[in-house]
Amino acid sequence: MSADAVFPVDRRPARVAALRDALARADLDALLVTALPNIRYLTGFAGSSALLLVTPLECMIFTDFRYAAQVEEEVGGFASVHIESSSLWSGLWPVIAGSAGVERIGFESANLLHRDFARLLEQGARWHWRPTTDVVEAQRAVKDPDEVATIVRAVEVAERALERTLELLRPGLRETAVAGLLEHHLRDLGSEAFPFPSIVASGPRSALPHARAGDRVLEAGDFVLLDFGAVRDGYCSDITRTVVLGPATNAQRELYAVVQEANARASGAIRAGMSGMAADAIARDYIDACGYGDEFGHSLGHGIGLDVHEAPRLSRTADAPLAAGMVVTIEPGIYVPGWGGVRIEDDVVLTEDGREVLTSFPRHLIEIA
Ligand code: ZN
Ligand code: ZN
Repeated sequence: MSADAVFPVDRRPARVAALRDALARADLDALLVTALPNIRYLTGFAGSSALLLVTPLECMIFTDFRYAAQVEEEVGGFASVHIESSSLWSGLWPVIAGSAGVERIGFESANLLHRDFARLLEQGARWHWRPTTDVVEAQRAVKDPDEVATIVRAVEVAERALERTLELLRPGLRETAVAGLLEHHLRDLGSEAFPFPSIVASGPRSALPHARAGDRVLEAGDFVLLDFGAVRDGYCSDITRTVVLGPATNAQRELYAVVQEANARASGAIRAGMSGMAADAIARDYIDACGYGDEFGHSLGHGIGLDVHEAPRLSRTADAPLAAGMVVTIEPGIYVPGWGGVRIEDDVVLTEDGREVLTSFPRHLIEIA
């Protein structure tokens, strides 16, 4: 399906125009884009092999024969398409040589193999190559309404998959089997892929913030932490819920209530203009005050979009101001080693006058009968 069919407004010209402005401010004549999500954002091309050169006058995309039909459909007349039979790079040099006035070219230093950097210095020695970071990523951090609507669809798929999975959750299931049920429902409901391997962590393993689903068999009384997402039209959702298998103990209820309140405070107060650090502090200060500061060892959240972890960061060191249109996760957690942990993660879009929480799955402690 072409980008135009999914997104009613073609945002690519405005995105490339904004990129050209950023390049001019950085005193660059062109940018060589090697990060595939950036290429998708700028051109609509969703294949797994491409280079993109953006100059003041042109966009030129290089891919291989496997994608000849796809690139034509997705990129169409928006960029000039070069199908390369041997290496993407071999087609690049004559094209740059034919671009008048292109001397200083940025490359994406976080997305270039050293092997390919060596090509710039060897075959590309006649141009000046400048490292850049986060040029396109900074643009991607602020979503347009179509992108937000797409993320909402990814949220809906994830929430319905969770609902179906919780109906099947019971003691005796292995964590990997629960992840399998969850991922089956995600796919069945239309998820194109998994943003990351779904996390299912039970009992004491719920205290491992980035546990993968493992061999542990669920037992009555366990916390079960499920952290997963769906992908729709390239855009990710990212959700965590923690439930109890059977009636919760008082200790479980108390811990859960602290995380739930931290989540509610951050979701209720995050806003554009605030720094990522200030947003992080809303949840962190509350968890600290409750005596669990050392057990909340990760940051409050991150941007989501074409990547499941992208700008902005909501962390203790993120001093840049948040902007309307950013879509972030709010995911406070408390992890008590050897005992268990709770995380509640929602997806939130910042608006001009506040925020809208995109996830609607219940946040109270669910006790699976
Ligand atoms: Zn997550
Ligand atoms: Zn997350």
